[in-house]
Amino acid sequence: MKSETKPGKYDLLENDAVRSIFKSRRTQFLIQLPGVLFLVIVVLAGFYGIQNSNMNFASISIWVIWWSLLIISLALFGRFWCLMCPFGAIGDWVQRRSFYKRVNDTFSLNRRWPARFRNLSIAAVFFLVITWADFQFNLVNSPLNTAYFIVALLGAVVIVSIIFERRSFCRYACPITGLAGLYSMFAPFELRSKNRETCKTCMEKYCISGNEKGYPCPVFEYPGTMEKNTHCILCTECAKTCHKNNISFNLRSFARDFLTLSRTRTDEALFVLVLLGVTVFQTLIMIRPWTGLTTDLMIYTGAGYDSVRFILFIAAAAFPVMVYSAAIGISKLFDPKVMFKELFTGYAYSIIPLGLMMHLSHNLRHLLEEGTGIIPVISDPFGSGWNLFGSSGYAPVPLLDNNNILLIQWLLVFAGLGFSISAGRGISRRMFRGNEAGYIPVLVFVFIFFVFNLWMSGQPVMHKH
Ligand code: SF4
Ligand code: SF4
Repeated sequence: MKSETKPGKYDLLENDAVRSIFKSRRTQFLIQLPGVLFLVIVVLAGFYGIQNSNMNFASISIWVIWWSLLIISLALFGRFWCLMCPFGAIGDWVQRRSFYKRVNDTFSLNRRWPARFRNLSIAAVFFLVITWADFQFNLVNSPLNTAYFIVALLGAVVIVSIIFERRSFCRYACPITGLAGLYSMFAPFELRSKNRETCKTCMEKYCISGNEKGYPCPVFEYPGTMEKNTHCILCTECAKTCHKNNISFNLRSFARDFLTLSRTRTDEALFVLVLLGVTVFQTLIMIRPWTGLTTDLMIYTGAGYDSVRFILFIAAAAFPVMVYSAAIGISKLFDPKVMFKELFTGYAYSIIPLGLMMHLSHNLRHLLEEGTGIIPVISDPFGSGWNLFGSSGYAPVPLLDNNNILLIQWLLVFAGLGFSISAGRGISRRMFRGNEAGYIPVLVFVFIFFVFNLWMSGQPVMHKH
């Protein structure tokens, strides 16, 4: 089937080679395999390697390289990471008792995920707990705790896969699923049905039920109505099962989901705001004013550093929700007929590009300043004196100086502001009858975070985490 004419999109599945890659059952396994091997090395290095984060493969590869590349890849390729994720791979292999062959009999109770938790609530709690654990247990600087963390997460994935159907963990519980889903809306790739009418009239709906060529969608999506990248983990199963060849994988312009979005969700909107607060907090604790602020608060309240940091962490996560609610309250004055909830959820998506670019600029600093630390540890992952590739003696240096990093950070955040404004105006036009006055309070909210982020990125860095 030929694609519908969709201006500004190019269906990569029109290419025979790409289509055969999507249709092959081995594809995902071959992409997952290096990820699983990587995870095994990380865990071994964490448990048995030297307990110095600058000399251990586990710390540098996970917290500097992987975490930075994850955010970059979400912006550029969407949820490509989910296609190769070793946690999801191991969950699938246990559940299916097969690496890539289609089997009917699964090793799972196949329970349905509880209806009241079919949202981002558990994922949000996990995300906050893990971000907090990062500070409290010094995950980033402890190879051993990094290994424990990975094993615990893997255990959770396997247990959920054995109890619940398909990739319930990835859809509802993975600590990065909210972040990955919302950021991937910005990416210039999308998997969609070619023609919605074909799906509407399709009786078999193998994308939902599966057939001998592939599994039903592991994350309970229906390509026939999918309009954003948020939940699709790019597993390619629907491209295999669809007997009408009605799946496309489009190259498109950046941030396109924000211009076409019509269905919004409160859990996603809240996640956007909490994520924004956590992103700010992560930068805040690295800069000099943080030291003064925490010292003052400790003296004023008599509380210890951990307690003060915890309170500020919770405040940082809650602050955007409160300020944004106030902005929406004002916005409602301009558009009294529209419900508060509609305005709240609708406009929240317009904040994602700025939040993504703030996150990206934060992680890019880590990558550019600390990324070359991977060169010696690749040769000596356990810090035990090996020199596998002849690079163990390399002394890491930043890839760029501070001024150039700052310039890139500012450019990214400016781009994020531009995309956010364009998304906000688009949402106002499509969802709120072009009432641009109603968007102004949200614009002010976005601008406050934009300016604050510019200020933070210009402050001297005191701690790396
Ligand atoms: S099987 Fe194909 S045509 Fe049928 S509903 Fe699914 S994606 Fe659409
Ligand atoms: S929509 Fe298709 S590619 Fe996306 S997760 Fe579902 S089956 Fe996989």
